[in-house]
Amino acid sequence: MDGAALAARIRSELKDEIAELGGVGLATVLVGDDPASEIYIRLKHKAADEVGIRALDKRLPGETSEEDVLELVAELNEDDSVDGILVQTPLPEHIDEARVMRTIEPIKDVDGLHPYNAGQLFFGRQTLVGATPVGIMRLLGEYQIAVAGARAVVVGRSLIVGRPVAMLLLHANATVTICHSRTDDLARHTLDADILVAAVGQIGLISADMVKQGAAVVDVGINRTEEGLFGDVDPGVADVAAFLTPVPGGVGPMTIACLLENAVRAARYRRGALAFPRS
Ligand code: NAP
Repeated sequence: MDGAALAARIRSELKDEIAELGGVGLATVLVGDDPASEIYIRLKHKAADEVGIRALDKRLPGETSEEDVLELVAELNEDDSVDGILVQTPLPEHIDEARVMRTIEPIKDVDGLHPYNAGQLFFGRQTLVGATPVGIMRLLGEYQIAVAGARAVVVGRSLIVGRPVAMLLLHANATVTICHSRTDDLARHTLDADILVAAVGQIGLISADMVKQGAAVVDVGINRTEEGLFGDVDPGVADVAAFLTPVPGGVGPMTIACLLENAVRAARYRRGALAFPRS
């Protein structure tokens, strides 16, 4: 499954929409100097610039207090030129991530991490849903992979990937199993999967003998080593799976494209072109 090609198409379609809206503003907040987070922020800004989104790059030193981070988020909430706000995670340990997410105005919450948006997803009334889970569903749709009635297994239960993608698969009528670090006999579950999503962060955790013949396998993992980027899925899985997302070039570019799409969606909500359910 070629995420790079689909992402390029989405980005080019967005350009016209953004021009029609008369511009869209996306603010990112990076606290500290985590090297992987810096790369993600750079990629997000580059992609935003290319489609004509005004990207605001807010950076705070790692020792910034929680109150100061909350204050910056509150300022961005008030800033009318900002349609979407993304706080890059992980935040330094002394900052309560959940409290920061709760401070973002739900209508600007492009990562879908405010409890309001997460709750809407839980109820099956999607508002803003994180870019990675949305990107995964778009890829499955692009390759016409039947989700309704399929057995989907999601390995990983993070708030940013595992749980929301499991919810989206459930709403698309898959029968969903969520696995995690305490799952006993992981292969027993993965072997049953028509659709297998690996979002763990362990190189090659999913080997060919854990995958059903003909399955669609989505590798979300991004593991950086001196030899390059590797996913959670062993390349040998390509011999068994009917579909497999490469790393790099699979979910990664889709995440960026869908983040831009979420910023446009937030702009539509804010301008009343789409109804944001508030009461
Ligand atoms: P995370 O918050 O660290 O969550 C990892 C999940 O994997 C946890 O739920 C953990 O279980 C589970 N896990 C750990 N070891 C396991 C094992 N041996 N068997 C089964 N489950 C296990 O990570 P994340 O933020 O979801 O990210 C996961 C990976 O995706 C990372 O490599 C990250 O870099 C990558 N990622 C990629 C994109 C993209 O755009 N491609 C976007 C986001 C993340 P517990 O809950 O029990 O601890």
